Amino acid sequence: MRYRAPRGTTDILPEEQVYWRYVQECASSLAETFGYGRIDTPIFEDTGLFVRTVGEATDIVDKEMYTFEDRGSDQVTLRPEGTAPVCRAYLEHGMHNLPQPVRLYYQISLFRYDRPQAGRYRQFHQFGVEAIGDSDPAVDAEVIELAWRFYERLGLQGLTLALNSIGDKTCRPLYLERLVEYYTPHVEHLCQDCQARIHRNPLRLLDCKQLSCQPYIAEAPVSTESLCDDCREHWGRLTTHLGDLGIAYSVDHRLVRGLDYYSRTVFEILPPEEGSQSTLCGGGRYDGLMEQLGGKPTPGIGFALGIERTILNLKRQGVTVPDQSTTAVAIAHMGEAGGREAVKLAAQLRSAKTSTILLPGQKSLKGQMRHAGSLGARYVVIIGDKEAANGVATVRDLAAAEQREVPLGEVIAAVSQDHSHD
Ligand code: AMP
Repeated sequence: MRYRAPRGTTDILPEEQVYWRYVQECASSLAETFGYGRIDTPIFEDTGLFVRTVGEATDIVDKEMYTFEDRGSDQVTLRPEGTAPVCRAYLEHGMHNLPQPVRLYYQISLFRYDRPQAGRYRQFHQFGVEAIGDSDPAVDAEVIELAWRFYERLGLQGLTLALNSIGDKTCRPLYLERLVEYYTPHVEHLCQDCQARIHRNPLRLLDCKQLSCQPYIAEAPVSTESLCDDCREHWGRLTTHLGDLGIAYSVDHRLVRGLDYYSRTVFEILPPEEGSQSTLCGGGRYDGLMEQLGGKPTPGIGFALGIERTILNLKRQGVTVPDQSTTAVAIAHMGEAGGREAVKLAAQLRSAKTSTILLPGQKSLKGQMRHAGSLGARYVVIIGDKEAANGVATVRDLAAAEQREVPLGEVIAAVSQDHSHD
């Protein structure tokens, strides 16, 4: 029996890594440009952290968590999302004592026992940011801008930013009442899920995907018309900032986050092809979350975006990513003395940060040259016993199709004009 990667997981092979490196380096450098510091939290946490924050009546907690009892009888869960662990770390390390907001970013793997399909996996990766401790709409604009500039820098085109405000604990209860009042006469026409949602989580009625529920959603009262004065002002200032930044958005009244701790701003970034599996990025303000973790009321906003889906879209749009992984130098060698010099030279080149591969010396020179070609090497350095005895090597520049003999001590200089990998 042959083992395969578990369902819903993927191996990221070297040829895929060019995409991963491109995306991840773009994410870190952009986050750092915005003044965000990297945080890494454990892959597993106490199960309670997610149950209390993500919420009991959610798909993640109900159906998708990888939860197990460890050998010390503790209930632990492989992290299904990144915000709760970051908030836990904020409280644990007394980050409220730092200047606010505390700006953090992460690049992590996550685990959800979901039904695998294109763009949906059981182990996947996210780049996310959290700005904790400041309720200024300028911070909302900053977080949205960061996500938007990320895709802009990567070179993805045709994306849409969807934006909504779902109010706060002052105005949302009234809005929910209006929503329930509106839906009640139609209840028997709604899908099963919506019939349950109407009392459990009425906001979620708006993001139902069932065709039969769409006409009711289209006519439903919208949250932005039920905002209290503070929320309306926040919304107005946020949209003004986005206008000033030249970031176009469309208001999507169906965009909601079903959990109580979300407030005001919610947003998503979507690729040109519509589809429920296709959302690239989701974010929002979570001013009630810290209290659920036992902290003082502390505002926060963040987003998480999927790396796999980002790469899928880079490929779909044919974006060329810089390939920094090519081998600069391959060393062909023949004979015992040639082999010894080759091993030493490879070590010297690598300590000069030149990526170097030793070719298989048991093959003919022709075979080694072919091998070098398939690696995409820029230079081949050839050392046989004769060269070793004379203290020289032949340096062949494959791109320029030229070769010359140089003393062994000058090989590094000969191959490192512009190909050293810093
Ligand atoms: P969420 O944490 O559910 O708000 O998701 C944020 C982003 O993570 C989504 O927009 C996707 O890009 C990505 N994502 C969420 N779930 C998965 C999954 N099961 N597989 C791959 N990517 C995912």
